[in-house]
Amino acid sequence: MPEKSESESRKLLKKLKETLSEESAGQERLDKITNIIAAAMKTHVCSVYLLRDEKTLELCATQGLKKSAIHQTRLKIGEGLVGKVAKSIESINTENAPSEKGFRFMPETGEGIYSSFLGVPIQRLGKTLGVLVVQTKHSRSYTEDEVYGLEVVAMVLAEMTELGAFIGDGEALSPLHTKPVTFNGEINHEGVADGAVYLHEPRVVITNPIAEDPHEEVRRLDESINVLRTSVDRLLESADSIIESDQKKILDTYRMFANSRGWVRKMKENIALGLSAEAAVEKEQSLTRARMEKVPDAYLKDRLHDLDDLSNRLLRILTGQGKETGAIVPKNPILVARNIGPGELLDYGKSLKAIVLEEGSIGSHASIIARAWNIPLVIFAKNILIEALNGDPILVDGDLGIAHLRPDETIVKAFKDKILMQKEAQKKYASIRTLKARSLCKTVIQMNMNAGLLGELPSLEKSGADGIGLFRTELQFLTRSKFPKRAELATMYSSVLDAAKGKNIIFRTLDIGADKILPFMKVQAELNPSLGWRGIRQSLDKKIVTKIQLQALIRGSNGRDLSIMFPMISEFSEFSEARELVLAQLSKEKKSGKILPKHIKIGAMLEIPSLAYTSEKFFDQVDFISIGGNDLKQFFFAADRDNELVRNRYDTLNTSFITFLKKIIRRCENSKTPLSFCGEDAGRPIEAICLAAIGIRSLSMRAPSIGPVKSLLRKVNLNDIKTVINTSIKDGESSVRQAVTDHLNGI
Ligand code: PEP
Ligand code: MG
Repeated sequence: MPEKSESESRKLLKKLKETLSEESAGQERLDKITNIIAAAMKTHVCSVYLLRDEKTLELCATQGLKKSAIHQTRLKIGEGLVGKVAKSIESINTENAPSEKGFRFMPETGEGIYSSFLGVPIQRLGKTLGVLVVQTKHSRSYTEDEVYGLEVVAMVLAEMTELGAFIGDGEALSPLHTKPVTFNGEINHEGVADGAVYLHEPRVVITNPIAEDPHEEVRRLDESINVLRTSVDRLLESADSIIESDQKKILDTYRMFANSRGWVRKMKENIALGLSAEAAVEKEQSLTRARMEKVPDAYLKDRLHDLDDLSNRLLRILTGQGKETGAIVPKNPILVARNIGPGELLDYGKSLKAIVLEEGSIGSHASIIARAWNIPLVIFAKNILIEALNGDPILVDGDLGIAHLRPDETIVKAFKDKILMQKEAQKKYASIRTLKARSLCKTVIQMNMNAGLLGELPSLEKSGADGIGLFRTELQFLTRSKFPKRAELATMYSSVLDAAKGKNIIFRTLDIGADKILPFMKVQAELNPSLGWRGIRQSLDKKIVTKIQLQALIRGSNGRDLSIMFPMISEFSEFSEARELVLAQLSKEKKSGKILPKHIKIGAMLEIPSLAYTSEKFFDQVDFISIGGNDLKQFFFAADRDNELVRNRYDTLNTSFITFLKKIIRRCENSKTPLSFCGEDAGRPIEAICLAAIGIRSLSMRAPSIGPVKSLLRKVNLNDIKTVINTSIKDGESSVRQAVTDHLNGI
């Protein structure tokens, strides 16, 4: 970067800083800024377009174009050259704008007389906030230094936009971080919560994008880079003992980025132009993010993600903000994140009041944990991370899949009423806690709960559950950095049985694969992990792990009853091989003098359709069957349970699926095999009564669902529901839902 343009850029930024520190209204500030930029760059026009909403840019200030066009001229993202810059998040530099493809003439601005055009994106971390444009009457091309300089100015504008510098009496744009905003996401787990935003990865707020002393900024950057490198080295050393060699290679690339001279050089160039160390880091990070959006290659994307992660760490070191540096957890924290893994969620613990994700998926294990803890969860709250700041007040309505950020008075009032109503409902469920789930036709349905964490066991008592119909043992592994020892597992299983106080618990053996990836596990590159090496397939191929778990279960039971269930069984031979393994461990334990369980039951999950058609021998041999509806439905309809595009496409009460379930029920009745249903649908009242009506006598669900399901069960006659279902099937309906709902509305 030549000395001259360096000092000019610094002069320009200094003037901007002065304007920004003056007491003036938002519009006035923005007007002054366009004047300063046009004068410094010797252009006839300088205009600032800012996002009015997600799809529209608005001319918010200009020097050179007609003033009457301010707040009148609007463009769609992608429309005209300005819209193109916003869409591609790339600068456009042209000598003759009207001859450029995509140029759109806007007569109200009077811009027809201008020839040259340089538009740079006003962006923050890969998200467009607006476009900064300079134009001249004569045809000229802008030098690389000029483009770079204007990008630096745009970066400062982006920071100031986010900090609300252009908001005031004469408001220049819709302010971020101040007004109430409602995010319409999707329902993942119901419930309401009132609290404050707690960012999973707090965005770093840069309050000082411009700095006058570049030497001091370079010193701060160097110092922070050293801290970063040491922390990365330490991180990798601690990971050494628990990772496989090919993962090590990936971590080495991470270290390589931290030591990259090119990265540091570019940040120092940004400082030389007048940016503070933080802003310099973020300018590079914004470029990385923009690139990340565009590269199709998954490997490259991951590496760019590494670089993004390093930039975040560096920013937190520089600013002293963020989790590692002790960000304060607000009262009633509501976690807001792009996405979250089950291990990370377990780290936060149950103190969270709700979770709002920009991405997420309904069937993921993180969702299952949130549901198990009865924490409202909203997914697909698009762009909430742009708006939310740590500590912002937020109301989460999990029943509607909505999050109200910085809500106004009316919303707060309506929300409080809703919370009150829910409390009333809870009181009603508590009053039937000790009563049986007996329908009007006197059928008693066993009400079990699903669990997987020790912390959930108190719900056994509170919910009035008869037992635990599904204990997902893999959840215990998700927070570990290595495979737990057998003794440790045995102690844990023993505590689970202690807490159950004699109620039956069905332990499901490790169900790993697809979305259930243990942190210390070598991930197999599979094209189709849901149909891949998972569940029992892994357990039978990696017998040592299965044997350790089975021994731990036997030792943990220590003379008490033990029920074990295997996941993802496709055919009889898989079950009998797994069963043999249990029998072998029992005799081994007996030989070494251990106390055997008083009774042992060995069951299977029916979650792969083929098992419904397997040999009669299976039904004779298995002690019990539990239908894993989540997976059974995904394989029955060939619709990924985690893919939001198809997840809701097929109704659980679809007549084909109901007919299929009836077949399973018939086979179990004929062989007198106890049958239960433990997928998420067991906890949805209408689905639950339909399952009971077609003959399922045991349901296992999230503890908080027991009240609502029991309450409805006690009000219905299952024979009537059965008739409604059968008529619906006979009439060729695609789902029995409508007919059942109509029937319920009539009682
Ligand atoms: C299921 O598939 O329905 C089930 C209960 O198991 P998971 O959700 O753990 O796969
Ligand atoms: Mg399953």
